[in-house]
Amino acid sequence: MRAKSPNPPTRIRTKVDRDCDRQEEALRQGGNELRAQNERFVAAVETMSHGLAMFDADERMIICNRYYLQIFRLDPDVIKPGVFFLDILRHSVDIGVASQSAEELYAYRQEFIGSCRPATYEEVLADGRVITITHRPTAEGGWVSVYEDVTEKRRVEQALIEQIRRFDAALGNMSQGLLMFDADARLIVRNDRFLDIYRFGPELVTIGQTYAEILGRLSALGIYPGLDAEREARIIGAAMEAGRTYSVQRELSDGRTIAVSHRPVASGGWVSTFEDVTERRQAETRILHMAHHDGLTDLSNRVVFRERLEQAAAAVQRDNYPFAVLSVDLDRFKSVNDTLGHPAGDALLKSVAERLRGCLRASTDAAARLGGDEFAILQPGISTPQDAGTLAARLIETIGRPHELDGRQVTVGVSIGIAVAPMDGDNPDQLLKNADLALYRAKREGRNTYRFFEAEMDATVRSRRELEIDLRGALLRGEFELHYQPIQDLGSGRINGCEALLRWCCPKRGLVSPADFIPVAEEANLIGPIGQWVLDHACTVAAGWPDRKRIAVNVSAVQFQNGLLSQNVLSAIASSGLSPDRLILEITETSLLGESELVAHTLMQLRSMGVRIALDDFGTGYSSLSYLKRFPFDTLKIDRSFVRDLDDVDTAAIVRAIVGLAGRLGISVTAEGVETAAQRSKLKRLGCNEAQGFLIGAPMPEAELFQDRRRRRSWLKALPK
Ligand code: C2E
Ligand code: MG
Ligand code: MG
Repeated sequence: MRAKSPNPPTRIRTKVDRDCDRQEEALRQGGNELRAQNERFVAAVETMSHGLAMFDADERMIICNRYYLQIFRLDPDVIKPGVFFLDILRHSVDIGVASQSAEELYAYRQEFIGSCRPATYEEVLADGRVITITHRPTAEGGWVSVYEDVTEKRRVEQALIEQIRRFDAALGNMSQGLLMFDADARLIVRNDRFLDIYRFGPELVTIGQTYAEILGRLSALGIYPGLDAEREARIIGAAMEAGRTYSVQRELSDGRTIAVSHRPVASGGWVSTFEDVTERRQAETRILHMAHHDGLTDLSNRVVFRERLEQAAAAVQRDNYPFAVLSVDLDRFKSVNDTLGHPAGDALLKSVAERLRGCLRASTDAAARLGGDEFAILQPGISTPQDAGTLAARLIETIGRPHELDGRQVTVGVSIGIAVAPMDGDNPDQLLKNADLALYRAKREGRNTYRFFEAEMDATVRSRRELEIDLRGALLRGEFELHYQPIQDLGSGRINGCEALLRWCCPKRGLVSPADFIPVAEEANLIGPIGQWVLDHACTVAAGWPDRKRIAVNVSAVQFQNGLLSQNVLSAIASSGLSPDRLILEITETSLLGESELVAHTLMQLRSMGVRIALDDFGTGYSSLSYLKRFPFDTLKIDRSFVRDLDDVDTAAIVRAIVGLAGRLGISVTAEGVETAAQRSKLKRLGCNEAQGFLIGAPMPEAELFQDRRRRRSWLKALPK
């Protein structure tokens, strides 16, 4: 309200005066309004979340807000309305905010100032902050600039871009195919590997499709044979809803296997991965096969065979369904390996396995290689044990036929032991053990044959094992001694020499026959040192005998095989001083089997030293007369079984024939086991050169050889003939 004047004017107020007053009032009111508006504008500018500066046509600043000053760290005492834009730039350079010179910044800005179009651009400050500047020309020829610090926004954007780039790279380089579905089961991500795996074009699987649609397509194209797409999609949907991972392996129509896994994600929806596991599956199958089969023959291995045996054993208890276990072992396989080499040995094993398989009923019988040249067969459903015998005979016949190995024909024998469940055992261990015992018997009784398990075999083997244990320390404990049995010349009646026969005086068992312990010593690899002891001892004793009497020493076939015989003989002769021609080595026909070259070579070496060779027990073994021609023998010892049956006309004829043949070959003949004077006379008549037996003298310790006068004389003079 206007204040009233105490003295009213005297002049009458005209209309003009009143108009003037009204105008004045209007102006005053307008000024007030403008001020209020201005104040509101300044307040609005100040509270803006962006920086703002306004310039007039002369590029002088009209107004700016605090945020503008803060962004550019401008000094409010310098930057005031009226300051030139260029001076602001210079000030920002002076305080080190700008990253370029004021002139460069100004030149850049001029483009926008000169144009009347709005523009937005970015400026990077010296400290790395990024400022977005929005430039708007004003009607008066000036402009308004709005400034925003977008540093953080740009950093987040950059990080997001980087993350997306990495995600893309990961997706593109995954060995697995990947599909990602949103909460509505619609496809949102798909990598190229997925298309590769299913050999799809990108148009077949597109963003927005549902999994059921994709499955439907796979099924319609025949890629997933026999798949119910709807049902499968329902199963997956239910699993995802329950928060469970759902994994399956799918066989494609082209034979490949794809491992598919669906995993729910926290934000809803799920990720499906697809991996081609064909090779892994094949490798797994191969490894599984290898774990269950023998690599060389592809027969089952011991583990699988045992499982089959266990199943059969369970069935026999339940249903009384008898079966047989055959333990199969090749005869003298080692000599094939040693003479023809391991590759030939392997080829032979393969060929044997093939024939073995051919003899079985594929659907029921099971065959396995248990190691080396050991095989085993399970023959279920037999009606009588003889069914197993028939199979064994067929195996022996089939495997015994020549095998063609690398253009060479190789023959191998096979020995088989049979145990029949339930009578020979009701568990795998017992049956295998009993089949082995029967096999052992088959081996001992001539090989290339089969034997059924018999209860007493077990006891035999156990006692043999105990014998072996006792035999091991016998040499060191000095439990061996030699007995000597005289050999008489049937022409002169004189004693030509003695055969050394080994005796084992076991403290536990008493005197053990060599027939019992020599085979055990051979098997247990003890014959080498024992044989050497016999040779050394016999040669030393005989060296002291009068009248150049000879000593005959028995040599085991195993001593031949280790190739050390010549060396051992040489060392015995050298250390005893015995003249080599006083030593006779008695070998049996088994020594001649197998590696004939090594045998012939050893015999030649021994002969060249002057040592004599006798073929012992002639007539009991293979009795191949061809041996007599092939190997250089000095003496042939006719087995005592012939002497015993000498009254038999045929036996006498055989002895006569042997003596005749030997005579023609320049070989002397000694008859063993002569117990009666009648036998001796008959043998003499048949042409035998020497006799040995209880009639002339039983084996005796050395001291007894010269004990009484009669014996002493007999060494020097002829005994009664
Ligand atoms: P062999 O070499 O044929 O020895 C002859 C066997 O016949 C001896 O049995 C002997 O005692 C026995 N004998 C001798 N005259 C008669 C007789 O008139 N009637 C009967 N019924 N038997 C007679 P022994 O001593 O039990 O030896 C058995 C076999 O053991 C020997 O048969 C020989 O093959 C082997 N042997 C003995 N000593 C050794 C040795 O030092 N080394 C090797 N490797 N084997 C040996
Ligand atoms: Mg002998
Ligand atoms: Mg003999």
